[in-house]
Amino acid sequence: MALVCLSVLIPVISGEMKVVDLTWAHSASTIYWPGNPAFNFSIMSREKLTNYWYESNWFSTPEHGGTHLDAPAHFSKDSWRTQEIPAERLIGPAVILDVTSQAKADPDYRVTQADFEAYESKHGRIPHGAIVIMNSGWGSRYPNKTRVFNSDQPGTPSTFHFPGYHEDAITWLVANRNASIVGVDTPSNDHGQSTDFKVHVILGENNIPGLENVARLDQIPEKGATIFVGSIKLFDGSGGPARILATFDQDAKPCDCVSSSSSIATFVGTSVLSVLLVSCIV
Ligand SMILES: [Zn+2]
Repeated sequence: MALVCLSVLIPVISGEMKVVDLTWAHSASTIYWPGNPAFNFSIMSREKLTNYWYESNWFSTPEHGGTHLDAPAHFSKDSWRTQEIPAERLIGPAVILDVTSQAKADPDYRVTQADFEAYESKHGRIPHGAIVIMNSGWGSRYPNKTRVFNSDQPGTPSTFHFPGYHEDAITWLVANRNASIVGVDTPSNDHGQSTDFKVHVILGENNIPGLENVARLDQIPEKGATIFVGSIKLFDGSGGPARILATFDQDAKPCDCVSSSSSIATFVGTSVLSVLLVSCIV
């Protein structure tokens, strides 16, 4: 295993492959939806024993807070719970939807089918198994609760104003493309003013996990990265904290967007690297 790790890590270290951590650290400042218990971190042991230093801590967290995964069961009773999500659904080609200008003009903005179509006319068809993530620019607000929920009453959801997806866009995506995961850089796939959480329901009923509070989307390309979602494999869970990583070739030439064969080749190449990387981490 050590030899495999070394050979795989060399391209990353030499700068051919860039890795971006799309995760906010879990801490006392992690943002949760109102009503959740607080994050807890306690030191159990930090001491110098006779021959070595020993440290061990205890933490507890609600499933849905900070950078995390929504299992489909979150809003759909008989859909996959956290541990049931197939591993191959947790790795995929990134589709980053840049709606920063729309969200700047309207904090209640909802991604439309036209936004997906605009992406495809620029970058080609949303690939099979895509991990689709909205970049609204909200990452610059994290972890300021007032700014993330965009409300001076961050304990009252009816006052929230942040972007998400329109349910009609998600209905179109589910019917016409084959995305593995759908996520956002805001606290919810449904926009802040939602009261029926239809996007959550549609995704859940179609066994499509969600990602929320995804970080640093401005540091990866709209197309060409591979994303890994290392979510906690929590038995019977409806979601949980996730370490989300993106890798891409930073020296890649601007894409020939409509050439699907070249994009598939790129994805297969990065996937092989990625799977080996994961086995290295494990
Ligand atoms: Zn959630």
